[in-house]
Amino acid sequence: MKRTSNAQQLLQARYLLRNPSGKIIETPHELFKRVAKHVASAEKKNKGGWEQTFYTLMANFHFLPNSPTLMNAGLPKGQLSACFVLPVEDSLDSIFSTLKSTALIHQNGGGTGYNFSKLRPHGDRIVSSGGTSSGPIAFIKIYNTATEHVKQGGKRRGANMGILNVDHPDIEAFILAKSEGNKLQNFNLSVGITNDFMKAVKEDTDWNLINPRTGEVTKAIRAKSLWGLIVSQAWKTGDPGLIFLDTINKHNPIPDQGIIQSTNPCGEVPLLEYESCNLGSLNLSKMLKSEKDEKRVDWEILEKTIEASIRFLDNVISVNHYLLPQIETQTTNTRKVGLGVMGWAEMLARLEIPYASEEAIELGEKIMHFIQSKSYDVSESLAGERGVFPSWTNSIFHPNRPMRNATCNSIAPTGSISIIADTSYSIEPLYAIAYLRVGIMGNKIQTEINPAFVESMKALGLWTEKLKAEVLETGSVQHSKIVPKEIKKLFETSLEIPWEYHLRHQRAFQKFTDNAVSKTINLSKETPVETVSEIYWTAWEYGLKGITIYRDGSKADQVLQACRLN
Ligand code: UDP
Repeated sequence: MKRTSNAQQLLQARYLLRNPSGKIIETPHELFKRVAKHVASAEKKNKGGWEQTFYTLMANFHFLPNSPTLMNAGLPKGQLSACFVLPVEDSLDSIFSTLKSTALIHQNGGGTGYNFSKLRPHGDRIVSSGGTSSGPIAFIKIYNTATEHVKQGGKRRGANMGILNVDHPDIEAFILAKSEGNKLQNFNLSVGITNDFMKAVKEDTDWNLINPRTGEVTKAIRAKSLWGLIVSQAWKTGDPGLIFLDTINKHNPIPDQGIIQSTNPCGEVPLLEYESCNLGSLNLSKMLKSEKDEKRVDWEILEKTIEASIRFLDNVISVNHYLLPQIETQTTNTRKVGLGVMGWAEMLARLEIPYASEEAIELGEKIMHFIQSKSYDVSESLAGERGVFPSWTNSIFHPNRPMRNATCNSIAPTGSISIIADTSYSIEPLYAIAYLRVGIMGNKIQTEINPAFVESMKALGLWTEKLKAEVLETGSVQHSKIVPKEIKKLFETSLEIPWEYHLRHQRAFQKFTDNAVSKTINLSKETPVETVSEIYWTAWEYGLKGITIYRDGSKADQVLQACRLN
């Protein structure tokens, strides 16, 4: 187990167990043993064999579960899930009891999403007190502040997704919320978009804003101007993103259980209220073999890894400690899991396929199709062994396909676990060829140069101290006089890749992902506002479930920063 210094620092700061006086009392090897043992305890037969399989799966960095599982498995009352959606009804009782649930979830490493659209708008009547309502944005601010303070005592920053539907009377204030003094830094904000709204934008008609308490139209606004406001704010601040509610519900595996209104914080899992989901990611950079001096996808190892990973995630549902009875009921009813990927950009670089190429898109579809179909096969065979998920008879799988899990796949951002596995994030392109990782511990960690790039240059005998200094200086290899053209193309970074390819990768993976894909379309600082409009529009046309953009420099607390040493 060879770990980079970044992985080591992250494991030490957040994941390895400590005694009451704060001294670290386990090694990374013991961490994986602890997790494997706990997850294998769900097995009826051959617990020891499964423990070994799960241990190897993680210790080889072929697969890692989401952070709460790594942090909490095997601890008394260990909460293992990353993603939750909670209800917010139009009452103080609901708003503040959900705030309490939020605090408990954040304290234990989970993230929470909510749709605030049931709340009456700002200035609306409160019959019991004779006063007027503060409206959803005021309450989002309270949730944001609470998150800030829970963070101090918790293991990591609690993340939130706040959604307001596009027909809510407070939608304009919501769109502008991040440009006010209060930056709502613990929230991602997304507008809940419907197909009717998109039609109104296309046909340039008026759009009605409706009070959810009375059903009355409070205002009609030109759909196009609302669209323009969304797009210009996203250009300025990165928020709001969009979530496409009709697309999500078209793919809801159990429509009888109700309409899905929200996703988890980063958008990869649409969930019912009180539902939670366990995620895990395959490390694609490890799913390669060498043949005749060439690297190929190792489909066999990929298949074996999927088999063990889906079983692992299903076990997590069984051995999880649920913080609320409602969460236990909803989660064990649908048994949703989300197996995704990390290391996609690294895999492509090692296969010598540029990210911005047709070949990459085709391979992305092929790989995700394979992952989805194998995941479903494993879930089906688990259903034979352990029984179908309880609400299966109401699901789209009934009666032809017995399934253990209502969903199998999600593409998570893998913000921490890809650092532990020392590979590229999720399906994102390389962010920079050299960079500082900033923000994970609230301090600067250290510089990293992409190891695949170093290997390629070494193989050509072109790796020199001069080149190293140059790459560390700029974070890019595009202006180098030493790096050959083909290598430059392979190591294009996120901002150097046209947005069209970012979006096409998201579509390629979404096609074969039953939940959703978390992806940020990174844009250079000079990108015009019209491009953001085009991206948001195309995302809807592509049938994506949500979309987020980030224009370089538009947020002060950027998690990753291209490396500049001077
Ligand atoms: N998440 C969170 N706080 C964080 C990072 C993540 O609550 O600081 C939750 C959130 O629901 C997110 C999910 O974990 O959508 C998965 O994020 P990621 O893949 O980055 O997590 P990792 O497993 O790498 O820690």
